[in-house]
Amino acid sequence: MIGRLKRISQDYFYNHSLWVWSRYIGPDRLVRVEFIVSLPLMYMCSLSAVYFDTTAMKKLLYLATSGKNRGDEAAGFCVRSGDRYILTKATRKDGDVSAAYNELISLVDGDEVTAGIAQTRYSTRGPSDAIHSQPFEIDGKHKIFLGHNGTVANAKQLANRYGFECTTESDTEVIGKLLSDADSVYEGVKSLVKEAIGAYNLTVLDEDGVLTVLKDPLGFHPLWWGRGKNGEFYVASEDSALYSIGCFEPEELLPGEMIQVSEDGIKKHMFVNEKTAKCAFEAFYFMKPGSSYDGRLVQDIRHELGYLLGKKETMISENGIVVPVLDSGDVYGKGYSKATGMPIIRGALMRNREGRVYMDPGIKDEHGLKLTRKEKAKLKHVPIPRLVRGKDIYLLDDSIVRSDTSFAITESLGLAGANSIHWRIAFPQIRCGCIYGHDHSRKAELISARLELEEEIAKQIGADSVKFLKMDDMPLIFGDISNNCFACADGNYPTDVPEECRSAIEF
Ligand code: AMP
Repeated sequence: MIGRLKRISQDYFYNHSLWVWSRYIGPDRLVRVEFIVSLPLMYMCSLSAVYFDTTAMKKLLYLATSGKNRGDEAAGFCVRSGDRYILTKATRKDGDVSAAYNELISLVDGDEVTAGIAQTRYSTRGPSDAIHSQPFEIDGKHKIFLGHNGTVANAKQLANRYGFECTTESDTEVIGKLLSDADSVYEGVKSLVKEAIGAYNLTVLDEDGVLTVLKDPLGFHPLWWGRGKNGEFYVASEDSALYSIGCFEPEELLPGEMIQVSEDGIKKHMFVNEKTAKCAFEAFYFMKPGSSYDGRLVQDIRHELGYLLGKKETMISENGIVVPVLDSGDVYGKGYSKATGMPIIRGALMRNREGRVYMDPGIKDEHGLKLTRKEKAKLKHVPIPRLVRGKDIYLLDDSIVRSDTSFAITESLGLAGANSIHWRIAFPQIRCGCIYGHDHSRKAELISARLELEEEIAKQIGADSVKFLKMDDMPLIFGDISNNCFACADGNYPTDVPEECRSAIEF
């Protein structure tokens, strides 16, 4: 077995430069194979879990694949087969979900698997090492395997208070140490809920074969569970992911809800908070259009937001076309077009699938220099001159964060011959950093923190106009927003902002 494991991993390492980290644990055998290459820290992610299912591996594959909208920089699986736990992870470069899955298949070697967890990761910035990939394996009083979505804002403080010696800079390791150093996962969760500030949806597999699923008491990010026809138990970050395995009547975990699943059955526990703080940006950007937010379809919410932008429009042009910035701008564009009567031309801005603009640029130009975010945005969004020449272009997008995307698209559209360029943005101006898991954590990088007026922002990005929906518009779409988190727009943080996160609110 050891020889085979080494062979598999060396093959990957040398032949495919695949970063692979796999661990196999048996009752009397322990093998560790570890290769480290550059990988950044994660923020937004998808979680999945399966229990009581003889096809658990395949279900995890479906769930993890369906979760890639929430993170596709790396993927990992941990499954239980009898008393063995098998952990595999791989990066996007090498095919993330499928590479980690293929590795899993070969290590499981045909044995029965009925339970496991999976995670897909959205990596952005931070330390460049592979150990930040998930599930984490943490060995304290007892061993656990941990998937995490969100950010614990006071993780450093907690690590100091408990004297944890962490090998990573990840808040997930701090959570893991809290859970695995406690007498049980349940006891660990009790401390976590008392002491952690922030967002921490978790899936935990422990050595007793118990699966623990937790949504933090403020309920920032989505987490759903459901049952199969024969009592199988499933978990996914978004309900639409559960549809991919035929689980069509899932339930959302309540804020503070913990579910523990073992061979003895299912137990539930509530850790209640007086208020909740569902992240609004999930509905605007991260979630799939077919997923549910606050009991409504995300695509319906986005359509209403686009429609509202259209209803507020004061500069409708007979020569105007509505151009959504794909993918998230699509439904906003439809709503806006309906309200204004200006036609939507979806293909006027072609979207190349190459790379991500938002995160640190990873590809290089012909001189070996890294492409800037703006250059990557140009590579990603390409105007079709025949469709835009001489037109007044109304661009629909979910948000302007740093403005790299809007700057680059405006410049390209101008060169392609657009007559005028107008940005219509659904999310209100982002003026503060997010400390709960979204990747706009520093105030200094936010254009709306530096420039207050829409006219100033339009000038900065070279557009003729920019208009955002306002915080006052939000109740029209979401009703009472006291249980939603819009902290990045209104600075109204539902928790303290710990010292270690001051850059979110200070220049
Ligand atoms: P920026 O270019 O920094 O202004 O970012 C805004 C663009 O990035 C918009 O087109 C958004 O759809 C997209 N976006 C916003 N937030 C994120 C995020 N956390 N990750 C990736 N893309 C994002």
